[in-house]
Order: sequence, then structure tokens, then C-alpha cells
Amino acid sequence: MKTNSNQIKIGDKYGNLTCISDCFLVEGRLKAKFKCDCGTDKEIEVRHVLYMRTKTCGAKCPKSWRATHGLSSTRLYRIYGAMIKRCLNPLHKHYPDYGGRGITVCEEWKNDFRSFYDWAINSGYSDDLQIDREDNDGNYEPNNCRFVTCTVNQRNKRNNVFLEGKTRTEWLEFYGLPKTMTEKKRFISRLRKGWPLKFCVDNYYNIFCRNKRPNI
Ligand SMILES: [Zn+2]
Repeated sequence: MKTNSNQIKIGDKYGNLTCISDCFLVEGRLKAKFKCDCGTDKEIEVRHVLYMRTKTCGAKCPKSWRATHGLSSTRLYRIYGAMIKRCLNPLHKHYPDYGGRGITVCEEWKNDFRSFYDWAINSGYSDDLQIDREDNDGNYEPNNCRFVTCTVNQRNKRNNVFLEGKTRTEWLEFYGLPKTMTEKKRFISRLRKGWPLKFCVDNYYNIFCRNKRPNI
């Protein structure tokens, strides 16, 4: 997938931009020439196209969705931008907790703010809600996202703090658990209900593996 690669080749298309030259260095910045769907050629820094989601030749471009959708000053647009950056821009301060852990944004949303916007409105978005991923290790995509109140989000975050810096999946790996997908689902669902991690680990075989005993 080109979006997961650090390389841009001639012919690659990002938004309305098509790469039309090899990359070259200008004062230490890696750039390439792009042709915008509106017909304009422009030199653009490669990382902006790869990670910052520059999609057109500029804000004045007639093809610019900024210019046409009229939504760039909305709260949803800011939520969208922050989501994209923490998943796709390695320079973003929260990238290690998102993109760095393999969490990404689904193609549909990544390529089209409007699609995210429509999903949000149809999913009960309002200005007092925050976006939340149901599975903390899952991606930003329609079936893993919802809008929740600040309180719910805080509770999830507290739960994560309690888990001391590792994600649920990383804790399972740390303890060499579990052995099957079913066990993993049960384990994670207990943690999400607030069961203490230590209790779950200590009682692992009793709770999660009916009819099974550890091989000692
Ligand atoms: Zn353009």
C-alpha cells in the first residue's frame, strides 16, 4: 500500500495530486513535482503529501475540498485532522500511541473527509461528544468507532492508565496469554468491564479456559 510506504513514485496518486517527477532535494527537503486534477503543476514537499494529507495544489485550487465543502471550520473537521495526523504523521507527538502501534484510518475516511463527515452525522454526532474506538487496538473505521461523552472517554483512559502503559494486547503477550482467539476475546472483554488485570491473570485458567488446565 502506497500510504504505508515512505516512497513516492511517478504515477502515484494522492487525493487530487499525481506524482510526475522523481523526488529531489531542495535545501534538505525532499520534494517532487505533482500535477493537480485542476491542471496546475506544483513542487510539494513529499512528507506533506504522504502524511499531512495535502491533496490539491493549494487552498485556492478549484478542486480543493477545503474550498468546496465549506466544513473546514467545523469541530468535526478538527477531529478528523487530529485523527489523521496521530495515525499517519510520524512527527506528531501522539503518533507513537497510534500510527506507531499500527493503528490507522480506513481508506474510505483517509481519502475523503466528506465520507467521515457523513458517517459522523449518521452516527449521532453532536458537539459535546468525542470520537472513541471500541477496540482500543483497532483502527479508525466505521464499525470500530462511535461518539461518546467525555465521561466515557475518561473512563476508558483511566482504564488504560491502570493498565500501566501497555495495551491490553501487549499485556496478553507479556504474560504469554492467551492461547486462542476465543480466550483473547473473553480476556479483553473482562478487562474492558473493569476487572483488575492482576485478578484476571492470577485466575486466568479458571476464568477463561473452561475444562482446561495449564500444562506444567
Ligand atoms: Zn489544483
